[in-house]
Amino acid sequence: MLKADVANRTAGFFKKNLETMPHKKRVEYHNQKLRRIVQYAYKNSVAFGSKMDSVGLKPKNIQTIKDLEKIPLTQKADLVELQKKNPPFGGFEGVPISELRRIFVSPGPIYEPGETDYDELGWAQGMFAGGFRPGDITINTFSYHMVPFALQMVDNSLHIIGCISIPTGIGNTEQQVNILKNFKATGYCGTPSFLLNIAEKAEEMGLDLKKDLNLKAGFVAAEMLPESLRSKLEEKFGMIIRQTYGTADVRCLGYECMKKNGMHIPDDKIVEIVDPETGKQLGPGKIGEIVATTFNKTYPLIRFGTGDLSILTETPCPCGRTSPRLIKIMGRVDQATKVRGLFIHPGQVDEVASRYPQVAKYQMVIKRREDKDEMILRIELKEEAPQSEKLKQEIEQSIRDVMKVRGDVQFILNGTLPEGAKKIEDQRTWE
Ligand SMILES: [Zn+2]
Repeated sequence: MLKADVANRTAGFFKKNLETMPHKKRVEYHNQKLRRIVQYAYKNSVAFGSKMDSVGLKPKNIQTIKDLEKIPLTQKADLVELQKKNPPFGGFEGVPISELRRIFVSPGPIYEPGETDYDELGWAQGMFAGGFRPGDITINTFSYHMVPFALQMVDNSLHIIGCISIPTGIGNTEQQVNILKNFKATGYCGTPSFLLNIAEKAEEMGLDLKKDLNLKAGFVAAEMLPESLRSKLEEKFGMIIRQTYGTADVRCLGYECMKKNGMHIPDDKIVEIVDPETGKQLGPGKIGEIVATTFNKTYPLIRFGTGDLSILTETPCPCGRTSPRLIKIMGRVDQATKVRGLFIHPGQVDEVASRYPQVAKYQMVIKRREDKDEMILRIELKEEAPQSEKLKQEIEQSIRDVMKVRGDVQFILNGTLPEGAKKIEDQRTWE
């Protein structure tokens, strides 16, 4: 506990040599790891071997990250069916079942093989970047049952850093508050909303969140974290809260640093942003599906499509970490629509509208005229708000900024849009 109190939570790196390596060196590091895992998985994972064979590829054809484009995507959405056809793991496991330590069950159900010695660094890097330090006594309030996150990933990652885990799981809020108080616990792992429950319960119990409790760092996941909720919780407890992103299958794919500047991709993953239809890499600045490749021999997933959309950036982060970052998670691929070759997503429509308090209701309509896509944002303004050409032009500029596609704004009469109207209405026909 003492060590944690004197530690500077906002500076430093967990694995400096990895986290600060120059771009070129990271690419070479990844290419080398990629060649090894492709060799290994081709031999040891039935599913990966047959995927390669089905398109006539041999491991020697995959030398670089760019070569990954040759390998068809494996979609998370298809895992349930693939596992049914070839139980229990769909042939994606890379070791015999007798060599596993645990088997996890995620909703679907999707079964996940758990390795004997967990040594992935991603989540631990994320916790450290988010202010965790050796010696932090931490309540881990994620669910320990069935799913791999709390036990396999969070618990082990706390151990990798040198923190002490109290496996409280979810619920029993009053008991959680007492545990925090009795141990002067400094770390919290869980959802943002459960931390809010804890705050409310502690206040109800007459405790002072800053004096009676001692939380310093929070590692949150599995839920959206609105900035308003983050600042409220940070303020109430006097703690740092950082979020992370990943899946049960490919694990940590991004974590925030002190600069809250998107999510750094951990060094033990290759993350591509791709066009989900063609599998082609889109590079920085364009919205596409997050596709991950792991170096995990127990569960070697290569080109695994998460179904989530994001944008990649390689601009330097002032924290000193040199890894590329996911700007934010923009929603699900199956809700996105392609307009003039670019994906647009309901979340982007919301983002444009949220910039204008005058807007009451809105819907983006996609049409096709003379073989060209047209995008029209139909807007009902609040009754007191006047329509103007200036406002129309401002919103059209915001559409260009957020979606990178040109769109027109059309003001419509109040009551035109039905309740529960779709955010994006695609009226294109393709005869
Ligand atoms: Zn950073």
